[in-house]
Amino acid sequence: MNFEVLTLFPDSLEPIFASSIIGRAVSKGVISVNCTDIRDYTKDKHRKVDDAPYGGGYGMVMMCQPVVDCIRAVKSKLNGSTRVIYMSPQGSLFNQKKAEELTGYDNLILLCGHYEGIDERIIELEVDEELSVGNYVLTGGELPAAIVVDCVSRLIDGVLPSSECYSEESLQNGLLEHAQYTRPRVFEGLSVPEVLINGDHAKQKRWKEEQSRMRTESKRPDLIVENTNEQGEEKNV
Ligand code: SAM
Repeated sequence: MNFEVLTLFPDSLEPIFASSIIGRAVSKGVISVNCTDIRDYTKDKHRKVDDAPYGGGYGMVMMCQPVVDCIRAVKSKLNGSTRVIYMSPQGSLFNQKKAEELTGYDNLILLCGHYEGIDERIIELEVDEELSVGNYVLTGGELPAAIVVDCVSRLIDGVLPSSECYSEESLQNGLLEHAQYTRPRVFEGLSVPEVLINGDHAKQKRWKEEQSRMRTESKRPDLIVENTNEQGEEKNV
């Protein structure tokens, strides 16, 4: 899978995509991540990419010409299915289900806004979908784009050692994961639950399932509501 991140600040993202699990996946060629500087597409002699908003108001708005040209230039080099996503606090909320859905594309173009955002006509002309990473406002779309790259990448075959690494994880099945422990068995008087040590796999599986449900009920009851249909039956998530 290929990710194209369009940004005014590629330097802020490149180290993120070069390190840890994502960096290794890029080196192995399992995914590719390219950052394109939108400013390289401006036709303004002073390399301007933003201007004051019509109708007045605070801040600057990213202009149509450089952004539209940048999206079109990047898109024209790609093969396969492509989705153009504008990272925006006005988008629908990004979640695990959306991440899975996005693995169905060959290319994701992630457009990062900055300042007061982008001219609305860019969205009308070139954007397929707007995604928000949460109900809060950030200074730019770079961190949200990194979140999408990271979250979608770990669902791609070959990025993690096995699909089990994510299939039993929090939110993947609509529930939170059970508690995890590693050595030592006792730390400052706190012991690892006996069931995890006694080696009975069936019991351990039951314990993990129970834990998962209990933790979701206490920490994220909203997820239980989300996973239950109007008749009170559990949805097959
Ligand atoms: N004026 C815009 C508004 O009220 O909707 C907010 C602009 S914000 C300060 C600058 C940029 O940060 C946006 O264009 C967007 O790309 C990004 N951004 C901020 N919060 C975000 C969020 N929660 N999810 C995704 N992107 C976000």
